Amino acid sequence: MTTYKICLLPGDGIGPEIIAEGCKVLDAVGAKYGASFEYTEAAIGGCAIDEFGTALPDETLAVAKASDAVLLAAVGGPKWDTTDPERPRPEQGLLGIRKGLELYTNLRPVQIFSALSEASTLKPEVIDGVDLMMVRELTGGVYFGMRERFYDEEGAGPNGSNGQRAYDTMEYREYEIDRIARQAFEAARKRRNKVTSVDKANVLESSRLWREIVHAIHDKEYPDVELEDILVDNCAMQLITRPADFDVMVTENMFGDILSDEAAQLTGSLGMLASASLGDSTALYEPSHGSAPDIAGKGIANPLAQILSCEMMLRYSFDMQDAADDIRRAVTAVLDAGWRTGDIADAATPADKVVGTVRMGDLVVENL
Ligand code: NAD
Repeated sequence: MTTYKICLLPGDGIGPEIIAEGCKVLDAVGAKYGASFEYTEAAIGGCAIDEFGTALPDETLAVAKASDAVLLAAVGGPKWDTTDPERPRPEQGLLGIRKGLELYTNLRPVQIFSALSEASTLKPEVIDGVDLMMVRELTGGVYFGMRERFYDEEGAGPNGSNGQRAYDTMEYREYEIDRIARQAFEAARKRRNKVTSVDKANVLESSRLWREIVHAIHDKEYPDVELEDILVDNCAMQLITRPADFDVMVTENMFGDILSDEAAQLTGSLGMLASASLGDSTALYEPSHGSAPDIAGKGIANPLAQILSCEMMLRYSFDMQDAADDIRRAVTAVLDAGWRTGDIADAATPADKVVGTVRMGDLVVENL
């Protein structure tokens, strides 16, 4: 029996409720496939700010680094919302742990579960067959570039403004583009062998470098993979007009942040989407949605995105492909049998098929 060490980061809002279901499913699938999981819980986000005054205590990063994988739920909530740059914010925990673990790749699979195809706001013929993987660069770009806010004469306009000015810098280094491009080409080889690289090369110098490097790696090492370039504005449109044509989509940090939320909405069910953040050592797995403070503590949150993030953990960190397939099969079976949490139920769902967080977790376990 192999034992894997997992750092558990429940975070805020619905986090503790959904992560418990993830662990329940991991334990059940582990028992079936000869693995056990040892969990160490640590604080991140708003609850860490309350307890330690910082969204990412050193202890949390140390536990994460000493683990085989990290399972995160979500952080944030109105209690910690602030625009004061001097006060800590929950999302600093996310950015900090990604940086600390050198997680430079975010993978977000977007697949339509046929039982939920009605949930999309797009026509069934548009979303039919959607199966794409968003590969987003996580540690570079404008979110980490130099930024400043200051006063100067140029900032003062004719309308009585007091002259404030601010800038952020979008910066990329060659090695950052190189390694994310490789992740995308490797992912494509395991899928339908096509990569769409998204940039804004008609305007941005960092995008021109991006395009040059992606092509150089492609031509030299991955000529068997089909490669297309697309400008980010055009991509935003194509994602909702011909989403089924995309296989692997690779892009820089901010474009990826925006496009992956758009891609997520293709499914119409935020509570279903998992994600993985990979580097060269410990990886982190989390749902794509936030901490849903509006429903926290009510026992009605959908745990499936968290459970599917456990599936990704088995696949990418522990190479337990059969166990991962089993989780996906179990989730599909539960949905096919008509079970729904409130967020994915519709007018046609009978009331006795609408279940809470814990029951949904139990149903997945029963179907393993
Ligand atoms: P959200 O994803 O938390 O919620 C959006 C809507 O979807 C809400 O109505 C919520 O109830 C619903 N929802 C989300 N997940 C659900 C689930 N599993 N089951 C049922 N319903 C679900 O986004 P938001 O409201 O914009 O943000 C709330 C907080 O979460 C904010 O503080 C934000 O900063 C934070 N946030 C955190 C992350 C993260 O931890 N990775 C990501 C996005 C937002």
